[in-house]
Amino acid sequence: MVKIFCLLSFFSFLALLPATHLNAQENQPAFVELGENDSPFLLEREATLPFFTSKASTVVSIIQDRIEKTTIALTDLATTFESIRLRQEKVKRSLGDVTGVLLEQIEDAEKILIGHAEKLENIEETDKKYLQENKKKSTNIDVIMKTINSDNWICPVAKTVKFYDSWNEQRPRGIHRGVDIVGFHGADLYAPVDGEVVFFWDSVGGRSYKLTNENGDYYFGTHLYKFGKKSGKVKAGDVIGQLGAGGNATGPHLHFEFHPGPLGRGNGVNPYLIANRHCVDRIPMEMPLNHTDAEKREKYLFPYGNFEWD
Ligand SMILES: [Zn+2]
Repeated sequence: MVKIFCLLSFFSFLALLPATHLNAQENQPAFVELGENDSPFLLEREATLPFFTSKASTVVSIIQDRIEKTTIALTDLATTFESIRLRQEKVKRSLGDVTGVLLEQIEDAEKILIGHAEKLENIEETDKKYLQENKKKSTNIDVIMKTINSDNWICPVAKTVKFYDSWNEQRPRGIHRGVDIVGFHGADLYAPVDGEVVFFWDSVGGRSYKLTNENGDYYFGTHLYKFGKKSGKVKAGDVIGQLGAGGNATGPHLHFEFHPGPLGRGNGVNPYLIANRHCVDRIPMEMPLNHTDAEKREKYLFPYGNFEWD
């Protein structure tokens, strides 16, 4: 019985999910250098997101198809529950042979429920996992796209920065699940969004912060030189620390993570795409931070980054 209700609430949640609408941008970037097949390609910074949108809409249509199937099964189940409820009301009204009617109702209800449980069990375990996994991906894609396109998102490091897409890079301590934003030692660190900031000591990264937005988005930054003066509620753009090389860092940088809500912490995605869009005072990795070659910087194309969801 409990299992049925768990399943029911999961699928109801699925059915309530709004369709993700991702409109492909019509304006193509001025210059695009395509790699082979599907490999990451280069776009100019202002380029819009045709690559994401085409991939995302494929996934969305697959998910919608699955959701439709589930919705049909659910509609059936809802009708059954309604009939049980009506019968139960009848029982309440029946002051005569209450016990007899009640037993009959319970028996009937059990039969119907077992029948429907079997029906739901027929959705294979792999399909259930598929639906769950895709619901998460679909929500993540939605949040990533919104964050990339947000006008209010602030680059977490002040002044000139440099970084590359190091998501999933093999490191001595394991797989890298963030972006390393290299900047000037002591540069201000900004809250990228409004939220609640908490400072703490991380055994690996040293001074660290976590920032949680009210929609559940979770940010983590580490290797700080100093904690910010403000903790608790902060606004986007508030100074929440200074950049350093604390913990196991080999040079001044902010190890920055993004875990989209509503799942938040533990649901890490590649933050490169977001930094790529919003950290505009950026130079190529091979240039020193205090470079003066504005022309070279102007011409440089940054890789678009890895949008990993399958
Ligand atoms: Zn890192």
